[in-house]
Amino acid sequence: MNEEMALIVQKFGGTSMANTERIENVARTVAATKQAGNKVAVVVSAMAGQTDYLLDLSSSISVNPPLREQDALVSTGEQVAAALLAITLAKMGHKSQSYTGMQLPMVTDDIHSKARILDLKTDRLQKVLDEGIIPVIAGFQGVNSEGDITTLGRGGSDTTAVAIAAALKADCCEIYTDVDGVYTTDPNICPQARHLKQISYSEMLELAGLGAKVLQTRSVELAQKYRVPLVVKSSFGSNKHTWIVKKEDVMENSIIKGVTLERNVSKIVVIRVPDRPGIAYRILAPLADLAINVDMIIQNASIDGHTDFTFTVPRTELTRAKALVQKVADDIGAQEVMTANGIVKVSAVGIGIKTNFGVAARMFKALADENINVQMISTSEYRISAVIDEKYGELAVRTLHQAFELEKNGNGGLRESLMPKHPDAAKPGSSDETDSGAGI
Ligand code: ADP
Ligand code: ASP
Ligand code: MG
Repeated sequence: MNEEMALIVQKFGGTSMANTERIENVARTVAATKQAGNKVAVVVSAMAGQTDYLLDLSSSISVNPPLREQDALVSTGEQVAAALLAITLAKMGHKSQSYTGMQLPMVTDDIHSKARILDLKTDRLQKVLDEGIIPVIAGFQGVNSEGDITTLGRGGSDTTAVAIAAALKADCCEIYTDVDGVYTTDPNICPQARHLKQISYSEMLELAGLGAKVLQTRSVELAQKYRVPLVVKSSFGSNKHTWIVKKEDVMENSIIKGVTLERNVSKIVVIRVPDRPGIAYRILAPLADLAINVDMIIQNASIDGHTDFTFTVPRTELTRAKALVQKVADDIGAQEVMTANGIVKVSAVGIGIKTNFGVAARMFKALADENINVQMISTSEYRISAVIDEKYGELAVRTLHQAFELEKNGNGGLRESLMPKHPDAAKPGSSDETDSGAGI
């Protein structure tokens, strides 16, 4: 094999793999890349709807299934898809072999349903690639040190693809999906969403972390850390695409880059908690131990030595979270634990938020003008988020997109004088890299 050949990792999501015709379409894309003189490793998601179908089956039996078994169940979706693509490639005359996470192996920790990749052996993949065979890898899944199947969280095939690209030192990782790149907001919710030719790793991380599921957050983290050139493309033909690049390389700098909607949100309220030091810790520590992500936290003013303590958790983890919190509430003598679904989180994301007071005012005015009540607020350097009633989620996205004039190129419609003096703005050598966490 020619050592000069480029190595490209291509990942195809569920809608791209939805049926046998679409799988043939995927096979044609893969074959064309190979015939153009590249080595290609492919990562696939389960056929559209499969993962949800399997999760529904399991939850029809139990609201709180053992996560080890749930992982064994849902990982089958990707195994099916990988084998079907390898069969299709073979029919078209290309040598191809499917691989599960266990066969590679893709070694993870043992946090079932949201495992993190610790190690990836590439010997077998290298050998297969050198022999001119196209490996088709089942995304989303790994194996822990016990040899049990784990999964990487919803959207985890993106992370599989980037991890494979990093480990193989691929020239590029291409994420093929049902949209032709990253937009200022979900184009399926807001027709005015604007296509972005490029976005920085940090802004993409923030968008993904707040609900823009076009890339899984962890995949962006890995791409940033291992400098994997990452591009989002359409499986269905388009000449547009989006490169995820270093901050210095972004041509267009906007105060607000995008708007997101996170539907996987629930609220837990612990009523009449005795107000003493350490209570927040007592309530939240057991959740942290199980890696349940707590986002917004509100502690009300104390009345006769008691307070209400409210926070959000992913809706998919509400049952487990509530059981843990109930136990603590009983121990500390809180009156009651209440939960609420029916809420979503909308966020405005961009590097200008920290230094721009105009942003929060504009956001809350726009929501108020639509009579959308804000239940909880949180801000960080790069974002402002509001929890609102679920039924206004999509309206809020369109409202904020318009309020920040994101359909226009430039500064999100904010006046030039409001442009941020971002400390890292044009600092030479400032980079977008983080270097935390062990393994990949
Ligand atoms: P796949 O199955 O290919 O992994 P996903 O459904 O996980 O695809 O991700 C693609 C979807 O992400 C799009 O169909 C779109 O609805 C949604 N999305 C959310 N926010 C954005 C955004 N800012 N830009 C593009 N797509 C977005
Ligand atoms: N099939 C998994 C999911 O639906 C993983 C993925 O699509 O990336 O979340
Ligand atoms: Mg996805």
